[in-house]
Amino acid sequence: MQFGGTPKQAVRRRNRRLQLNANLDDCSYPHNLMMYNDPPTMNITLQEFEAFAFERVKVLHYLDSLSVSAVKNSQTYNAKLTEFLRKNYPGFLLQNGGDRDVSEAELEWRRRDHISHFILRLAYCKSEELRRWFLEKELDLFKFRFLQESMNSVQSFLRQNNLTYTPISDDEKERFRPFLTKISLEVTEAALEKTFFYRVPFVEVLNLVSSRRVFLYQGDAFVPQKEFLSIISNQFREHLSKALTLTARSLPELEEDDRLLPILCSFNKNALSTAYDPKRNEGKVSVNDLDDMSQTSYPLCMRQLHRALKDTHHLRHWGRMQYGLFLKGIGVTLEESLKFWRQELGKGIGEDKFDKEHAYNIRHNYGKEGKRTNYTPYSCMTIITKNPPAAQDHHGCPFKHTSPDLLRQKLRSYKTSNDVIDEITDLVKGQHFQIACQKYFEYTHKLEDSSFQVTHPNHYFDESQKILKDEKVPRQQNNQDKNVTKFAPNWSMPNSQKEDKSNLTEEKKFNNEWEDSTLEQMMMEYSEE
Ligand code: SF4
Repeated sequence: MQFGGTPKQAVRRRNRRLQLNANLDDCSYPHNLMMYNDPPTMNITLQEFEAFAFERVKVLHYLDSLSVSAVKNSQTYNAKLTEFLRKNYPGFLLQNGGDRDVSEAELEWRRRDHISHFILRLAYCKSEELRRWFLEKELDLFKFRFLQESMNSVQSFLRQNNLTYTPISDDEKERFRPFLTKISLEVTEAALEKTFFYRVPFVEVLNLVSSRRVFLYQGDAFVPQKEFLSIISNQFREHLSKALTLTARSLPELEEDDRLLPILCSFNKNALSTAYDPKRNEGKVSVNDLDDMSQTSYPLCMRQLHRALKDTHHLRHWGRMQYGLFLKGIGVTLEESLKFWRQELGKGIGEDKFDKEHAYNIRHNYGKEGKRTNYTPYSCMTIITKNPPAAQDHHGCPFKHTSPDLLRQKLRSYKTSNDVIDEITDLVKGQHFQIACQKYFEYTHKLEDSSFQVTHPNHYFDESQKILKDEKVPRQQNNQDKNVTKFAPNWSMPNSQKEDKSNLTEEKKFNNEWEDSTLEQMMMEYSEE
């Protein structure tokens, strides 16, 4: 299994006799941290291929879900991640042992780490959106693991990867003492002796320069040891970004391989399916039904937008975007959409003004103006993490952006029982916004336990419609196996793991969603109010 290179190299590779995987030693994997420079060249079975990739996908998705409920690298974030890894994938917590012998089990974990990373490169290199997601999650994992390492271990990691960063000498430290002690409150006169500083070209640490966390001298930045992670992360990001682009170029070769391709597709299919395809429902919903549907099938975020629009005949920019794309996703056609928005906004500003100021944006949402991109509705992750609403806004996620008192009030007005309101507010306090939304879904649809996870307002709507139209499997059947696991990933589970579900029970809080690729484009193209 190799990636990248010219077609000639690929042919040579195909013909090369690969070494068998049996003899692993310290030289194969000298450190538990890797920059993933060289692809694996050993043979592995298809079962291993599938199982290794599957476990890494789960770790990356856990990181994704965790980033919604906790600040990255905060104490809570690290504690939750450590707990998750300890229970499920302890190999990712192994630290380098200095001079001690590395056990076979550790070497095996390193091998899995190495191989799984490269498999997922293949699965996630297909589109810009997938690459960006994969890069970000791999970087999060790398940073977490890097921060667990001792100083000696970091030094040996740098040596092994030819990353020649040596701390500045004591003389140099003495020379710049007055400046170095002003970098941060933590670098006091006393702490200076024990702190390492690295001198690097300032372009390598632009984020630290912009936040004034380094001392600059003659084009070099003096980076304190605490901030050293920024340098290494940049290296890691740059390297992986290039590698993913190269992998994408060599992907057509893989299409000849009918064993691997279906497996790879089963991993990234999840990503593609959650980037909601607005065409799937086209024309299914009439705007005359929106009032009823908003009460039965809308998630709270859309219900509050619909209500606000009906009451005030006005929505600010992000509200119009969030709701407009949702409507497109549930199947409102462009013509119907124009009719609906003209009717509602027109009551506030007049239809002429509507035609001049808003009709273009609605056509743009449907890919009929500008770059003619087929924009997708926002996912929960996007709504929760981007563009927080200001005072007069109605967009965002009510579970995340509404104060607990107001949320209680709102739920009460929707005739939610006190028990459920208590449960939901507890979940919100724990920052489990999507799980709180799922609880609300279960309550409003009279389910004890739904089999799907709320990751997208449009999936919420579709699921609700299925239940209401009685197209879904009767609830009793659904609930028969509810004790097995609530973690229901959209990607297919490897055959080798299908029987072993014992370690999945803790993963029920997984929310696998990622940002819409189009959001930034849209931010560029649309003017703010
Ligand atoms: Fe909407 Fe998602 Fe928040 Fe539910 S969790 S209210 S669907 S953004």
